[in-house]
Amino acid sequence: MMERTNIQAEVEQRFRQFMLAHQMRQTSERFAILRAVYDIDGTFTIEELEQTMQNRRFHVSRGTLYLTTQLLVQANLLIRHPFSSSSAVFERIIDDRPRSYQICSNCHRITRIKSKELASSLESYHPRSFSISHRIVYVYGFCASCQRQMRKVLKENNQTKTDKI
Ligand SMILES: [Zn+2]
Repeated sequence: MMERTNIQAEVEQRFRQFMLAHQMRQTSERFAILRAVYDIDGTFTIEELEQTMQNRRFHVSRGTLYLTTQLLVQANLLIRHPFSSSSAVFERIIDDRPRSYQICSNCHRITRIKSKELASSLESYHPRSFSISHRIVYVYGFCASCQRQMRKVLKENNQTKTDKI
């Protein structure tokens, strides 16, 4: 694992090259957002990123945040997770190790799956005509607390039925 300062320097370099290639303006705002994104460990929403920027006394509009995160996704420096929650969920791409997540379809809670078997089978997947930039797997279902909640509701419903009889 690279040290934080090395990672920051490398991603800044990659972002710079991306903007050069696309003839975009290299503003200090964009780099400040990139630094904030790479300081956030794990997943985050635009609202949380805005909070991080505010904590750093760096004011940027919501529009700039949306646009810059979009650019970072295009530059392959950020993942936008296809979660079905109300706001978009992002995560930095810190290395090329495979990632897997389980997502609760009810409360949208996201947890990382730490399975060596899953990781190694993802790593060994090498399609011939597709160039892979990152490997991610999503597993959907219901988290423990939602399962408990559902069992409770089910039990209560059964209870009411028996009470009536
Ligand atoms: Zn849940």
